Amino acid sequence: MTQNRTTRLERGRSALGPALELVHTGRAPTRAVLTAELGVTRATAGAVAAELEALGLIQVDSRPTAAAGSQGRPSHRLSIAPRGPVVLAAQIHADGFRAALVGLGGRLVATAPGCMTVPADPARVIDAVVEAGAGLLRESGRRCLGAGLAVPSAVAEPEGTALNPIHVAWAAGAPVRDLFAESLAKAGVPGPGNVPTAGFTGNDVNLTALAEHRHGAGRGARHLLCVATGHRGVGGALVLDGRLHTGSSGLALEVGHIPVNPDGRACHCGSRGCLDIEADPLAFLTAAGRVPGPEGSLLQQSRDLLRGEYGDPAVRAAADLLIDRLGLGLAGLVNILNPDRIILGGLHRELLDADPERLRAVVADRSLWGRSGGVPILPCTLDHHSLVGAAELAWQPVLDDPLGALG
Ligand SMILES: [Zn+2]
Repeated sequence: MTQNRTTRLERGRSALGPALELVHTGRAPTRAVLTAELGVTRATAGAVAAELEALGLIQVDSRPTAAAGSQGRPSHRLSIAPRGPVVLAAQIHADGFRAALVGLGGRLVATAPGCMTVPADPARVIDAVVEAGAGLLRESGRRCLGAGLAVPSAVAEPEGTALNPIHVAWAAGAPVRDLFAESLAKAGVPGPGNVPTAGFTGNDVNLTALAEHRHGAGRGARHLLCVATGHRGVGGALVLDGRLHTGSSGLALEVGHIPVNPDGRACHCGSRGCLDIEADPLAFLTAAGRVPGPEGSLLQQSRDLLRGEYGDPAVRAAADLLIDRLGLGLAGLVNILNPDRIILGGLHRELLDADPERLRAVVADRSLWGRSGGVPILPCTLDHHSLVGAAELAWQPVLDDPLGALG
C-alpha cells in the first residue's frame, strides 16, 4: 500500500514538468486535453494540475465549462497564473539593448528599451541591461526564477564566449556568460531558491527559433529552420524535435556566411558576397539607393521603407534583389537540412510579406526538396522573439523539474 502510494507520487512528480510544458506552450488548454496528452488517468492529471497550481505556476478554473459549440463533456480550463513568477530576459543588439520580464507562456510582463552605442567593453552594456531588468523586477514585485541573455553572436560551448560579435564592437571571444553572471550577482537578481542566478546566454537567432517553436509560427514543426536578420547581419537556427541544434560546440547554423553573390562585397568573415552582408537591412537600404539616417535602427528604417514606399520602382527592385539572394541561401539550406518548415524573422519576414510568391518560387526552383514537396515558408509571429527565447533558457530548469526549482 505504502509502496503503491510512493510510486503514484513519484509518477505524479515526473509528470509535473511535461504537464507544465504543455500548459506553457498552449497545448493543454483544459484538464481533459492534459489528461489525453500525458496519457494518464483523470485522477493523476487532476493531481498534477492541482500541484502546479499550488506552486503558483498555473490556474485551474474551478468551474468546468464546455468549449463553445462543443458536444463534449465540460472540462476545467488551465491557464498561466496571472501573478505568477517571471524570469528576467535581456537582449543586446547593434543599437543598444532591451530588458524584459517574461512569464510562463512566453508572455511579456514588462519591458524597457535602452539605446546606446554598444561599448567595446561588453561588461558596460551587460551591466546596463541587467540594471534595467532589475528595475523592472523591483517595480513589479514579482518572484524571479532566473535570467537569460540574447547576444548578436555565436556563443561557444561550453566556454560561454561570444565568438563573432562583428556587429557590436566587442573583441572575439568576449566572456559574455561570465560577465552576465557577474552583473546578475551585483544587481542581486535571484533564481530558483532565491539565491543569485548565474543566468543563461545564447545567440539571438537561436533564441528566436526556440521562442517561435514554443509559442509562435514554429509550433508543431519537427525540423524547424529559422533565418532572420537582426539589426545588422543574418543568422540561422534549427530546432530538431523541440531542441535547438547547436552543433558540437554551439556554432551550428552560421547561415549568414553562405555565399549568395559570388562577385559581391567583401564580408567581415574573409569571404565575399555572404548572406550576412547581401541580405541584411543595410544591404536593402543601399540597394534602394538610400543613405541610412540617424533616426531609428537600420532594421526599422528598412522596414519603414519597404512598407511605406513599395510602389517606388527603386524600392521594389531592391526588394526583388534581396528576395532572390535570400531565396538562393534558403534553397541551399533546404537541400542540406530538409526542414519541414521555414520561418523568417526581421527584415526577411518583411520581404516574405512583400512578395511571398517570388520567394517561394526561388526556393522551389533552386532546391531539390523544395521542388519535390514545397517547404512551407512562414513569417515569425512573436514580438521580441529573442527576448522570449532568452526567457525560455531561464524557464528550462523549471520546466524540467517544477518541484525541484520551486520547492
Ligand atoms: Zn561572411
